[in-house]
Amino acid sequence: MNSHDLQTIESLESSVRSYVRSFPTVFTKARGYRMWDENGKEYIDFFSGAGALNYGHNEPNMKKKLVEYILDDGITHSLDMASNAKAEFLRTFKEVILEPRDLDYKIMFPGPTGTNTVESALKIARKVTGRTDVISFTNGFHGMTIGSLSVTGNSMKRIGAGVPLQYSPTMPYDDFVGSEDDTLDYLRRFLEDNGSGVAIPAAMIIETVQGEGGLNAARFEWIKKLSDICKEWGIFLIVDDVQAGVGRAGTFFSFEKAGIEPDVVCLSKSIGGYGLPLALTLIKPEHDQFKPGEHNGTFRGNNHAFVTATEALSYWKDPKFEQSIQKKSDRITEFLDEMIEKYPQIQGHRKGRAFMQGISSEVEGFSEKVASEGFHHGLIMETAGGHDQVFKLFPPINIDEDGLEQGLELIEKSIQSAIK
Ligand code: PMP
Repeated sequence: MNSHDLQTIESLESSVRSYVRSFPTVFTKARGYRMWDENGKEYIDFFSGAGALNYGHNEPNMKKKLVEYILDDGITHSLDMASNAKAEFLRTFKEVILEPRDLDYKIMFPGPTGTNTVESALKIARKVTGRTDVISFTNGFHGMTIGSLSVTGNSMKRIGAGVPLQYSPTMPYDDFVGSEDDTLDYLRRFLEDNGSGVAIPAAMIIETVQGEGGLNAARFEWIKKLSDICKEWGIFLIVDDVQAGVGRAGTFFSFEKAGIEPDVVCLSKSIGGYGLPLALTLIKPEHDQFKPGEHNGTFRGNNHAFVTATEALSYWKDPKFEQSIQKKSDRITEFLDEMIEKYPQIQGHRKGRAFMQGISSEVEGFSEKVASEGFHHGLIMETAGGHDQVFKLFPPINIDEDGLEQGLELIEKSIQSAIK
């Protein structure tokens, strides 16, 4: 492949929004949790393609399966035609993910992206209930199309679309007004008093941990109560697990410990396993009312992504995998608590859950500084939150303990540099 210097790339990309500004180098190789740039400098990846690379870069088993499939002239693009790769993925997903969790869903391929699954979820909820509004939550993020932006609780992101498509009330997420208040009391009051302007909605859409919105994690009891409210009022509960799913929040589905069964679940990002685009909308069988052609699109269900997605599910066959995620998550929690205590200058609190944790700093610009210092120390890391107040630790969930420790060490160095 031709190599390009940073200056050329910057000029090629000068008219588009790009990560080059945050990570000013040209990356040439990546394996597992490590990346290398054109100068041979090594980086630890605590970004994981914004959650699309939960199993790291070029995962060897997935790579092998994909290369074999390509060399064998396996079908690439097949739309709704049957293919072995698709059948194998569906069989494995049912056997490894749905059945052991006692979950029953129809699986739909809504298009290649997270936004596509959210759009299909909003549409099916409106179609089945015959209602229009969708309640969403403060700081939620659901995608970049007008429908998904209408339920995104971040005004900066919505600006690009102007006025939302419909009146979509935003309700306070868990802990939005402090942990003493149960924000579901507000929600219930709105539903009971529709004179206030909140019609009974078709759906509520929620992330159990808000990936872009600052790693706010709703308590499991709160999520269960939200699900009960939805049931009581005949409202669809849509869990957007695009970022928090596929193990990022500690279990395959982020809501497992809340003991709920959402009406619709949105999956994308790491479901493809290898960074290949794939999205799934899981719909309770009784709501499966799309007729053929009512929701389609050219790039639904890419066979290369099915091959890697099937291989990725092998991780979940072994219960030790989930235990290892838990163990490493506890280490991340312990480390962040230690940082907050050791460096009071951060004025920080720990946010999030499992492999989507970080620190929110009260000091303006501090978290962005930690991320940019990270880059100089050889660590790739992003920020989150309405004011980029959170620095976000997003290592691959299969990272080994050595890699995790190396990354944590670089974070401490970055914090020290940011304080100076
Ligand atoms: N929902 C959530 C929770 C997300 O984090 C994202 C992407 N950051 C999306 C939806 C949209 O996914 P995509 O960028 O693939 O369209």
